[in-house]
Amino acid sequence: MSTAPEGLPSTIRHWIGGELVDAADGRTFDVTDPVSNTVYTQASRGARDDVQRAVEAAQAAFPGWSSISNRERARVLYRIADAVEARHDRLARFESYDSGLPITQAKGQARRAAENFRYFADVIVALGEEAFRQGEEQFSYVVRTPVGVAGLITPWNTPFMLESWKLAPALASGCTIVLKPAEWTPLSASLWPEIFAEAGVPAGVVNIVHGIGEEAGQALVDHPDVPLISFTGSTDTGRHIIRSSAEHLKTTSMELGGKSPVVVFADADLEAALDSVVFGVFSLNGERCTAGSRVLVERSLYEEFTRRLAERAERVKVGPPSDPTTEVGALVHTEHYERVLNYVEIGRKEARLVAGGARPDHLTEGNYLQPTVFADVSRDARIFQEEIFGPVVAVAPFDDEAEAIELANATQFGLAAYIWTSDLKRGHRIAHAVESGMVWVNSHNVRDLRTPFGGVKASGVGREGGAHSIDFYTESKIVHVALGDVHTPRFGAAS
Ligand code: NAD
Repeated sequence: MSTAPEGLPSTIRHWIGGELVDAADGRTFDVTDPVSNTVYTQASRGARDDVQRAVEAAQAAFPGWSSISNRERARVLYRIADAVEARHDRLARFESYDSGLPITQAKGQARRAAENFRYFADVIVALGEEAFRQGEEQFSYVVRTPVGVAGLITPWNTPFMLESWKLAPALASGCTIVLKPAEWTPLSASLWPEIFAEAGVPAGVVNIVHGIGEEAGQALVDHPDVPLISFTGSTDTGRHIIRSSAEHLKTTSMELGGKSPVVVFADADLEAALDSVVFGVFSLNGERCTAGSRVLVERSLYEEFTRRLAERAERVKVGPPSDPTTEVGALVHTEHYERVLNYVEIGRKEARLVAGGARPDHLTEGNYLQPTVFADVSRDARIFQEEIFGPVVAVAPFDDEAEAIELANATQFGLAAYIWTSDLKRGHRIAHAVESGMVWVNSHNVRDLRTPFGGVKASGVGREGGAHSIDFYTESKIVHVALGDVHTPRFGAAS
């Protein structure tokens, strides 16, 4: 049974120039929930004309928004955070219903969304610009200016939070925006218009065009007046967007897929490591870019760790997303569910299934999967190499530190890594050797908003987070000023 939250919109419309509008050609697409897998609403299906209107609105709003003081923009961002919090409960219910995230976890994501706006308001007010002095001769200073109309393209996992992660720094930097939310989860984005209106964001500063990636998303990427694309999504789409962006030499930021290793040494705090592994791969339904989906365990601990991990996975409470006791909800969409189930079938042939692997008996409808653990997974296995993006984890043993590092680095991805050991020197050594943008030692994914976020290899290009986000949404211009006489070689001055 899916419990529909109150106040579901009968249609989800674009928001352009401060108005809710239908697609120029009137088309819509179906929006389903992941428990009943039935259509509960329609969303406007954006195409080139809609993106054109949105970009024009963003261009018209740019001179005003980019020229107000950082302090004034920060005030608006604080009001956005307040408006998000005021809708915290509805927002979480919408998100949970549309995406299948357990309601308790959706509430956590809603809180983080509000924090993103507060944080970037603080950053922009505190921000200084660099200055350089070369003795008495020259003084140089940096002037930062917003890049212009920012194109933001976001995925369906934790959609509202990830939208806020891009909206907040782009707004703080003085950019105006066209956002294209993921087509499987447009519901929570339907709350942005009232949030922005309540916070006093001028019309046209943020524009939202819903639609299919290959249509609305592609039109945004192809638009010549959108100089910057911030993308979070799959590696294949990221690659395609970089190629398309080359035509107009756009600045791009790519937050892509992952297959992050958790390396557990025999001297680790076993209970803490176990809690972290279970939470790290099964929270957010395993639909998490930084999920620790490959667990590498030192051989002397391997059998015990695997057995206990399997026991815990079997006991994880899978249930309706709206139930506050649910730990793993429903996977976002039937297409994704089929894909994850297909990986489970592949895993059965490649490795030893020790937990899960099927729909829980008590849940006869909906995209549910019991958390699944595969042991003895070889490095060539597809379930070791490919991102599954569901509640499925691959476990493998290692014999020594060198092998642990080799296995940790043995995929195309490099987003996050987690290391468990009580030998701190070793913790640092491995943190430095592992090929990833982010590493946690003796911790699951706890983020400080000031820190760089992003991946290496096929997990991404560029960094967002903290000052890195402001760098991305602004251009730095250097102004050099002579303070004294400039000694210029006097070409053509010889008699
Ligand atoms: P996806 O690549 O299918 O879609 C992401 C977004 O891109 C959607 O809005 C989609 O409509 C749009 N899109 C698709 N084709 C496009 C095109 N040709 N032009 C422009 N836009 C296009 O990804 P997904 O399935 O929605 O998300 C899951 C993926 O996102 C996983 O791989 C996950 O690891 C990754 N992800 C990464 C991070 C990170 O920070 N590194 C965070 C969350 C998710």
